[in-house]
Amino acid sequence: MNLKTARKISDVIYLVEIGLVMLFFILKQYRTYVSAAIFVVLMVYFLFGVKFMRCPHCGKRLRRYDEKCRHCGRSVDAEPKIRNQKKQV
Ligand SMILES: [Zn+2]
Repeated sequence: MNLKTARKISDVIYLVEIGLVMLFFILKQYRTYVSAAIFVVLMVYFLFGVKFMRCPHCGKRLRRYDEKCRHCGRSVDAEPKIRNQKKQV
């Protein structure tokens, strides 16, 4: 997965999380379930970030909107050199 896709998916998970937090305040009688869902989505968001929000060059962790890698200093928007490697897990 490339970083652009990872960021998009990460954004979607983030929006879902916000939606759930809103539901938490709206659906007062379902708070137990909603808070469980919030927890699960939060974990997914965190794990997704750990796994996929990485520099395409050196593989180190990136912050959400880093344009350059803090570790190797290269632009993370540039495609990695080996294009056939789709799975960079
Ligand atoms: Zn890097």
